[in-house]
Amino acid sequence: GSLGPLRCAKALQLTLAVIKPDAVAHPLIVEALHQKILAHKFIIVKSKDLVWRKQDSEKFYAEHEGRFFYQRLVEFMSSGPMRAYILAREDAIGYWRELMGPTKVYRARYSSPNTIRAQYGLTDTRNTTHGSDSVESAQREIAFFFPEFHVQEWMERLEPSFRAGQ
Ligand code: UDP
Repeated sequence: GSLGPLRCAKALQLTLAVIKPDAVAHPLIVEALHQKILAHKFIIVKSKDLVWRKQDSEKFYAEHEGRFFYQRLVEFMSSGPMRAYILAREDAIGYWRELMGPTKVYRARYSSPNTIRAQYGLTDTRNTTHGSDSVESAQREIAFFFPEFHVQEWMERLEPSFRAGQ
């Protein structure tokens, strides 16, 4: 058959998205976010539910060590189950960050009320979601959550026109 339309498609990019413990505590929120992911035409490449030890949390957020919210963040992220996704889409990183909204929930509610954090976030720490903010952090974070997953191998299996530069 013809592969014409596929050849016109834009390159897929991968991102790491997480539904944080505040939301996983409410199965209906997880369901709503899962539906949102599908409705926005992300491909769910991988997903898993997991619980961090405190040391996982500290390692993942090492760049924030010393910030006023660090201890609170580390405790929160190891306080209960999370759901992690590797998502693929054209401009997946920026698109998922747009859907999430600003880090601080009060700001999200004020400036972007339709975003996930505005709708479901509880506090600046318990803000429902995480998303990689660059190609480099997506690579690091995908490896952190899914050490068995090889981005390069996955990309190489795609039709060339779908391949992004990561
Ligand atoms: N955070 C917080 N208080 C703040 C800023 C951040 O508790 O004032 C938490 C929040 O859970 C946030 C995470 O630390 O999602 C990481 O912060 P970052 O600045 O990287 O924001 P993000 O990329 O998650 O929007």
